[in-house]
Amino acid sequence: MANQKMLKFVNVDRDMPTKRAPDLRKQDFEEIYSEYAAVKAEEQSSRCSQCGVPYCQSHCPLHNNIPDWLRLTAEGRLREAYDVSQATNTFPEICGRICPQDRLCEGNCVIEQSGHGTVTIGSVEKYITDTAFENGWVKPISPSAERAESVGIIGAGPGGLAAADMLRRQGIQVTVYDRYDRGGGLLTYGIPGFKLEKDVVMKRMDQLEAGGIEFRLNCNVGEDLSFDAIRGKHDAVLIATGVYKTRALQAPGVGAEGVVRALDYLTASNRKSFGDDVEEFDSGALNAEGKRVVVIGGGDTAMDCVRTAIRQGATSVKCLYRRDKANMPGSQREVQNAEEEGVEFVWLSAPKGFTGDAVEGVMVQKMRLGAPDPTGRQMPELIEGSDYIEDADLVVQALGFEPEDLPKLWGVNGLEVTRWGTVKANYGTGETSLDGVYAAGDIVRGASLVVWAIRDGREAAEAIMSYLSNTASVAAE
Ligand SMILES: Cc1cc2nc3c(=O)[nH]c(=O)nc-3n(C[C@H](O)[C@H](O)[C@H](O)COP(=O)(O)OP(=O)(O)OC[C@H]3O[C@@H](n4cnc5c(N)ncnc54)[C@H](O)[C@@H]3O)c2cc1C
Ligand code: SF4
Repeated sequence: MANQKMLKFVNVDRDMPTKRAPDLRKQDFEEIYSEYAAVKAEEQSSRCSQCGVPYCQSHCPLHNNIPDWLRLTAEGRLREAYDVSQATNTFPEICGRICPQDRLCEGNCVIEQSGHGTVTIGSVEKYITDTAFENGWVKPISPSAERAESVGIIGAGPGGLAAADMLRRQGIQVTVYDRYDRGGGLLTYGIPGFKLEKDVVMKRMDQLEAGGIEFRLNCNVGEDLSFDAIRGKHDAVLIATGVYKTRALQAPGVGAEGVVRALDYLTASNRKSFGDDVEEFDSGALNAEGKRVVVIGGGDTAMDCVRTAIRQGATSVKCLYRRDKANMPGSQREVQNAEEEGVEFVWLSAPKGFTGDAVEGVMVQKMRLGAPDPTGRQMPELIEGSDYIEDADLVVQALGFEPEDLPKLWGVNGLEVTRWGTVKANYGTGETSLDGVYAAGDIVRGASLVVWAIRDGREAAEAIMSYLSNTASVAAE
């Protein structure tokens, strides 16, 4: 049994201790944490009623066999639980940490529906795979036979990596190109470390590399290497570049020093946690310490920014959102976390402009909810004469992301995109308008979730395997 006396000093986030009390030695914490996690995983797994109508499974985008790995965990058969869990999910340790489970598996748990609180499926999934890593059960890919065909994957985010993993397992020669210096995409540089520890992502990257996947990092396709060159070099190509164009505010003063973009802010913080030299962080430009911070936006990225600012030691953190709490796009669990950590939400408020050459304040316009739009969502309307100034030393714009214009950026004819600029790809296969070119993840869906990118990557890999086999048999005729 875990040391209960010491456990009470540990901060408990949801049902797991995640932070070390200041007077607790790291080693003691890790020991307690590990014991606690084991007790909790067994306890939670035993709560699964094996209901026979696994809505949790049907609401997991990967259709993970949740009831089976919960049962195996409850019986202490962790190695088998890991085998079942990893059969459908390429990165269970990551999904277990950062899936919005309240909207997916856990939100549809029968026990939750009957009002007794969900089985915490995500934390059990995380526990199973963390245990598998600790015990050396997670082995690098070792294909039974090598194949001559090669696939080029553009983008080392979860979509690209899931496809790389599946293809390599079948002996395909895989090269992943990415413009960043580390793989992982938004797992590495977008999502903050307090939600997803960076060593967890890097451990996975090491495994993939050890399994023979070649990474060409610091390679910006379209600049350092053309798309056509990649296409010419490989038998098939997967585009998994995510969405990175920031939706920008159009307001007077938006160019003021101290009005920054969410991804720049989060990337600087994540880079710092790797121990990198980050000039904009060290100069204070992208560091919230000692500042009054205003974050604009109501999605999960905004929640990551406010919670990062709190951790950096901001003197105050406010989140400005033009609708009310009930209409926020972000997860309610994240809003609750932010509120508990001291973030103040300023509902029904929109930025009208910014004061100061180096930002001093946000001119705020108050809003009310008016008539519904065609989707039924109430539209925010201005309340005339309600303007005021919210003091700020750092303003973070977190209004969402759009796809870059890939056909133009890469000079590719014939790559069809939708009217939103996402790559047009077949549902379930990722096939694009170009022969042998597939697409997966956010660049197809628009800003979405890690678990969907993994599913797309796995499906695209399957379709690429069929394409390669068909091409080989045509060539043999
Ligand atoms: C701040 C933030 C927090 C989030 N939190 C969560 C969360 O808690 N849970 C969740 O499920 N989802 C979360 N998401 C969403 C999730 O991260 C994405 O849906 C997911 O990462 C998409 O995966 P992807 O592989 O399609 O793209 P990405 O992860 O964006 O990876 C794309 C990769 O392509 C590379 N690339 C792009 N263009 C080029 C080019 N021209 N040449 C070479 N390389 C290129 C990029 O460098 C990047 O590494 C969050 C997103 C953000 C921004
Ligand atoms: S992958 Fe996500 S949705 Fe599926 S079981 Fe795991 S935490 Fe739940």
